[in-house]
Amino acid sequence: MNICVVGAGYVGLVTGTCLADFGHNVICVDINEKKIASLKRGVMSIYELGLEELVRRNTKENRLVFTTDLKKSVQASLAIFVAVNTPNKEDGLPDLSYVEAVVSGVAKCMDGYKVIVMKSTVPVGTCAKMCSKVEKVLNERVSMEHLAKNPDVDCHLPTFDIVSNPEFLREGSAIEDFMRPNRVVIGSASDEAIAIMKDIYRPLYLIETPLVITTLESAELIKYASNAFLATKISFINEMAHICERVGADVNMVAKGIGLDKRIGSKFLHASPGYGGSCFPKDTVALVNIAKIAGYDLKIIRSTIEVNENQKKWMVDKIKDVVGSVKGKTIGILGLAFKPNTDDMREAASITIIEVLKTAGAKIRAFDPVAMDEAKKILKDIEYCEDPYETARDCDALAIVTEWNEFRQLDLGRIKELLKSPTIIDTRNIYEPERMRRLGFTYVCVGRKTAVNNFKPKEAYISAVY
Ligand code: NAD
Repeated sequence: MNICVVGAGYVGLVTGTCLADFGHNVICVDINEKKIASLKRGVMSIYELGLEELVRRNTKENRLVFTTDLKKSVQASLAIFVAVNTPNKEDGLPDLSYVEAVVSGVAKCMDGYKVIVMKSTVPVGTCAKMCSKVEKVLNERVSMEHLAKNPDVDCHLPTFDIVSNPEFLREGSAIEDFMRPNRVVIGSASDEAIAIMKDIYRPLYLIETPLVITTLESAELIKYASNAFLATKISFINEMAHICERVGADVNMVAKGIGLDKRIGSKFLHASPGYGGSCFPKDTVALVNIAKIAGYDLKIIRSTIEVNENQKKWMVDKIKDVVGSVKGKTIGILGLAFKPNTDDMREAASITIIEVLKTAGAKIRAFDPVAMDEAKKILKDIEYCEDPYETARDCDALAIVTEWNEFRQLDLGRIKELLKSPTIIDTRNIYEPERMRRLGFTYVCVGRKTAVNNFKPKEAYISAVY
């Protein structure tokens, strides 16, 4: 099938490349000329495991091309995927101007039946609104063409359907997530469009991927509800980490103990500096505001957001608890991306942690295996280092902020020698407290027993409970 994907960012580029790998002919369109020029040269605009190789293979076999020409791409395709950005505006609702620009651009040039597939995350009702928008543009187009050309001939409108097909891929494992999704959600009122979507995703039948066929509105809400639920799981375990530290329990064990219950599941139960990235922060805020407009106060999600914000600040408090005043001190930061295996810095915990430390007068040395170029655009006046060892040199403390695998295997003896003071604040719990103590570190982690915080339940707590 001929497919056009508009927006060649994380979602669009991965979607287009994977659909080409399924055997479809895919044209990826973006307005960013620089991005398209570098993709044409085989240079990826994002870091994603396996993506470069997949792009190379599919471009070589002529199933994947990149362009800035929307008109030609739309006219050559049956399905048009919209995968442009929907950042939140100041009022906490998604900015739909990019989506609207694409949809009216498509309507202006479509020359026959098209399926417009919404991959971008959009509030409930957007697809219905876009449907009216396309109809309006088509009506204007037809009346203009009609008047200009032949007033006696009945001009017919090209037909179209709109489908909501939200994306659930995770950056860092985006290819795997797209190729082996837990489910594919298809929202549409049209049997013809649903049949075309099933055809597009046919290779997934072989691996028995469940399809959820539903209405536009339910599909749109499924995306927000999924992200809000996962974000809530993260904030939940982060709150448990606070309790663990107060009562002498270990959050890793608590997570394991509850996660083995199949009704709960073990994923997204890792104590941390909170969630970040391009989706959870934006989508939780958007959902609260969407609900508000719909006349409902989403208390749980509001709390999820609040807990998440406080979590980042708690990490700074942990650093200050061991270092004392950070004024004039040098803090090493390992990991800048919002999570491992991506260079995405959007809403990364490192940004808040570093900015708060800098404001308090700390000097920052930092390293990330792949996100340094992105980080340099956001975090100024810090010293970017070559590797973890260079980062640790002469620091008063070292904080692990993103759990890249390579940080799990550091030569800790060497790190200890390089640090001015052997202090590690592990915001991701990647080391064992007992081992760190034996190695002679002052080691602080999240929701677990350490030498510094030895978890004697507070007197007041004991006397109140017993
Ligand atoms: P992104 O910012 O990485 O990419 C968006 C791309 O769209 C950019 O390359 C931009 O140049 C392009 N674009 C903007 N306007 C355009 C236009 N008029 N014509 C052509 N191209 C245009 O965004 P993303 O992270 O890929 O997210 C896209 C959507 O998918 C968002 O709604 C997001 O919420 C959702 N989503 C993202 C993820 C994720 O992990 N990143 C996961 C699931 C869903």
